[in-house]
Amino acid sequence: MADQTLMEKIVSLAKRRGFVFPGSEIYGGLAGTYDYGPMGVLLKENIERLWLAQFRDSRDDMYGVDATILMNPKIWEASGHVAGFSDPLVECEKCKRRFRADHLDDPKTCPECGGKLGEAKQFNMMFKTHAGAAEDESATVYLRPETAGGIFMNYKNVVDSAHPKLPFGIAQIGKAFRNEIAPRDFIFRLRELSQMEVEYFVKPAEWEAAFEMWRSVMHAYADVIGLPKDSVHELEVPDEDRAHYSKRTIDFEFDYPFGRKELWGLAYRTDFDLKAHQTGSGVSLEYLDEETKEKFVPHVIEPSLGVDRTVLAILSSAYREDTLGGETRTYLALAPKIAPVKAMVSPLLKNKPELVAKAREVREALRKVHPAIAWDDNGNIGKRYRRQDEIGTPFCITIDFDTLGEKPELKDTVTLRHRDTGEQERLSVEDVTARLREALG
Ligand code: ATP
Repeated sequence: MADQTLMEKIVSLAKRRGFVFPGSEIYGGLAGTYDYGPMGVLLKENIERLWLAQFRDSRDDMYGVDATILMNPKIWEASGHVAGFSDPLVECEKCKRRFRADHLDDPKTCPECGGKLGEAKQFNMMFKTHAGAAEDESATVYLRPETAGGIFMNYKNVVDSAHPKLPFGIAQIGKAFRNEIAPRDFIFRLRELSQMEVEYFVKPAEWEAAFEMWRSVMHAYADVIGLPKDSVHELEVPDEDRAHYSKRTIDFEFDYPFGRKELWGLAYRTDFDLKAHQTGSGVSLEYLDEETKEKFVPHVIEPSLGVDRTVLAILSSAYREDTLGGETRTYLALAPKIAPVKAMVSPLLKNKPELVAKAREVREALRKVHPAIAWDDNGNIGKRYRRQDEIGTPFCITIDFDTLGEKPELKDTVTLRHRDTGEQERLSVEDVTARLREALG
């Protein structure tokens, strides 16, 4: 499968099956924006829930916050974003198209029309708007370019309200906005994106141990959501490429259909942010160590994970085409924990009330294991299976006349069909329930 074709197929499946739609589509779209549809929402929620479980809820040293997107603009002055959150922009003198200079093979020639490119200018990527009725500079606010800012704003609140001991961290999931010069590659480079971020506060001497700990948590998470080990790679970011606040960064890269690109980041942000906000606000952000009575500004390790890039990594690694029963089919080999729908229950025929009633009963039993159990009685069974294959449903369960006792030895058994192999087995409802529970771990 040529890579470009694979990407096109993923985009098409995402739309056809309700994962991801272009934003504002009937008005011609808006570059760098995509909406999540019914399946995409479930997939995204699974990604976020598993992240919360791994990064926050299974730990005693983590706290949650949900901060605003609009914040006092002084935050972004202190953090260095007003002065430095920019990418080099070049414009073609002939066709006037704009590009990110550091993404071009030849920084002098327009990749679209061959015209001459002008000098690179720094372009700040923060979206600006105005808070309140005045539209002058005094009312300027920014849409946050990373969720981290809201975490730093609540560091003191969490310390004062929860009294955590170092090391501890704050986790947040939320939207961030970046006015990317060239949004591209579907949901890889967006202007409105979601991030799952942790700021983990440590004593300065303990940063390396914390960095290593989060590094392994990130790999474990990649595993939990079903990303193949051999498609996730670490890149030690060299000094000249690191963000202004970072002393060490590892990019977790993924082999997307369009090449190896950043999926997530892990950064040692030192005490840069808290010190900058302490200076900017005049409020002490020092931590008092109760045992040693020492006062200091903690250092920070930041695992930062983009939700949308995770969705894309999952979709592209799960996409499969094969031949089954002489027919070609497409399916998503999603890990059951990640799959939007866990199982589909189906009566063999929809006009037989006794089959429908039994199938509804089986569906309710399975819903006690997980709520995402679909119902499909449309078209023939083969078509129902194909639809579920395309959204990555691991199991399909069919209720037929044998379930009702036509063959007495098969009474109360159902057909369980496995997505990846198409294999079918005859099992009791209890066994199917147990299988589902086991698959969801
Ligand atoms: P890139 O170098 O690709 O622009 P970045 O290094 O600027 O990314 P970070 O600032 O480290 O990205 O942001 C943390 C995470 O947020 C990234 O690892 C990625 O998952 C996600 N992310 C950043 N920018 C975007 C974007 N424009 N669209 C979608 N996700 C993004």
